[in-house]
Amino acid sequence: MFQECHAQNTAREYIKAYKEVAKSAEAFGEVPEIIPIYLVHRPSNDIPYATLEEELIGDFVKYSVRDGREVNLTRRETEAGQKCCAFQHWVFHKTEGNLLVTDMQGVGMKLTDVGIATCRKGYRGFRGNCATSFIDQFRALHQCNRFCTLLGLQSLYEASIKASAKLNDVEQTNCWAQTIDRVPFARFCTSLASLAIAPTTSEQQ
Ligand SMILES: [Zn+2]
Repeated sequence: MFQECHAQNTAREYIKAYKEVAKSAEAFGEVPEIIPIYLVHRPSNDIPYATLEEELIGDFVKYSVRDGREVNLTRRETEAGQKCCAFQHWVFHKTEGNLLVTDMQGVGMKLTDVGIATCRKGYRGFRGNCATSFIDQFRALHQCNRFCTLLGLQSLYEASIKASAKLNDVEQTNCWAQTIDRVPFARFCTSLASLAIAPTTSEQQ
């Protein structure tokens, strides 16, 4: 109960920041809102803690499931659904892939009961209430929509290709650096010299 409240109120802070960014993107329109949830202490009651939040009236829709996958195509295509997925991508990008808001659900643009998954160590002192594996699933399954584009977010697939290309470059550079580091200079020169005389040797034969 404590964790759920903490996760929802943390997600609320992220969506407030998202709202500010979305305001500057022309044609973005209304931004989803995560409603506040309060923990109430009632010492005289058998169950001393309870949560309190606004009652949402209307069609309750799950825009994403707990593991970060969009629940179905029809819901994903709604404006609220697309904006929720773009929000997930925006937070994921902002936290460098360390935090994901999951369980995006509610009535229209009002959301509640959301969850958060973080990397194993947590993110900036915060640990999510959902499994870390949700982050990997989101990375593999998220498809960008027009709201991701409006916010200038890069496709996760393209981003991962660029990242692995960069990693290969670094590995290759390190590999050369290690070769040069480990081979004593004299032996390195001898190897180069033997390479240079190799053609002459074959000509003599
Ligand atoms: Zn996206």
